Amino acid sequence: MTAFWTEPDFDDHELVQVVRERQSGLTAIIAVHSSHLGPGAGGTRFWHYPNPKDGLRDALRLSRGMSYKNAMAGLPMGGGKAVILADKARAKTPEMLAAFGDTVEKLGGQYVTAEDVGMSEADMVALSQRTAHVSGLPVSGENAAGGDPGPFTSYGIYLGILAAIRYKLGKDSARGVHVAVQGVGSVGGGVARLLARDGAKLTLADIDEGAAQKLAHDLGATVVAADAIMTTPCDVLSPNALGAILDEHSIAALDTAIVAGGANNQLARAHHGEPLFARDILYAPDYVINAGGIISVASEYLARREGRVGSVEEVKERIRQIPGRLEEIWQESASTRTSPDIVADRMAQKLIGRG
Ligand code: NAD
Repeated sequence: MTAFWTEPDFDDHELVQVVRERQSGLTAIIAVHSSHLGPGAGGTRFWHYPNPKDGLRDALRLSRGMSYKNAMAGLPMGGGKAVILADKARAKTPEMLAAFGDTVEKLGGQYVTAEDVGMSEADMVALSQRTAHVSGLPVSGENAAGGDPGPFTSYGIYLGILAAIRYKLGKDSARGVHVAVQGVGSVGGGVARLLARDGAKLTLADIDEGAAQKLAHDLGATVVAADAIMTTPCDVLSPNALGAILDEHSIAALDTAIVAGGANNQLARAHHGEPLFARDILYAPDYVINAGGIISVASEYLARREGRVGSVEEVKERIRQIPGRLEEIWQESASTRTSPDIVADRMAQKLIGRG
């Protein structure tokens, strides 16, 4: 690999380590973007990249994203990310995980890993046999922090949507507010359930229409086709499926006052926050509103480092700070006439000492 620092996604990363372990066939890249606030935390992605350079780009880009996300979540954690470059068959062996765990351990806590695409809770358990610097492990008891981060992500998004409704629509609850939810998987399904409890009017869409129908039946919601949700007239559009859904064309066709959902990287390109802002649509920056999952994973790790088991209540307490952070962003956005995504990036840069 030549001169990674000439890559456009290189942003003065503190550590970029290429791992090659012949016996197990492991090839991985570990990147720590910033440790200004604490150890570089972020999941490991197990993915087949036909061009290994794309793996490097993912490690660089995603670790920087984690610096911003962790900082804005108020966590004493920096930003890191690892990618394991899988072969075409995506064969994952215990030996490979052991070699990867050994490398994480050798970094002595500079990098803390967890699940990401292609890595399961069981894989984290395997890694924990070799390193202490792993999180996202099974819950160890009732009300203990850990386990599936999905419900915590949903909870943060729900609170963020309530904050947006308050800020933009001047309403104290979601009762009667029309929310269009794109994607009813782990995150979107949880958001819909929480909003239904408050009496929101829900329209759901998923490419798995059966899943949308089933949830709609349980919640008394309406279903539209997956390709119709982005243009559904509503108060809040909550994207909880794919990234890169907001570009010039889709933004021009939106019929909503608010975009607030958990999908990562909703803006197709960095400059697409601008047309949203120009249309006076309130945007909740994705990495701020969807931080509930990382808050859960980080709280679990931080408590374990102190020799105790973290609690669900302390995770929720941290998640309850998401609305305040969003309000701060929106106020700054209004007073400086700058789109909220740019405001969030600047706040994050300041927090990690790069402002
Ligand atoms: P998931 O796989 O459980 O759910 C995604 C759902 O979206 C699926 O039901 C899928 O059928 C549906 N979908 C896919 N393409 C669609 C389309 N074009 N239109 C409508 N629906 C579509 O995944 P998840 O864990 O719920 O994650 C959802 C999003 O939130 C992802 O972007 C993920 O990166 C992000 N996110 C998740 C977490 C977490 O804790 N799980 C944390 C932060 C961010």
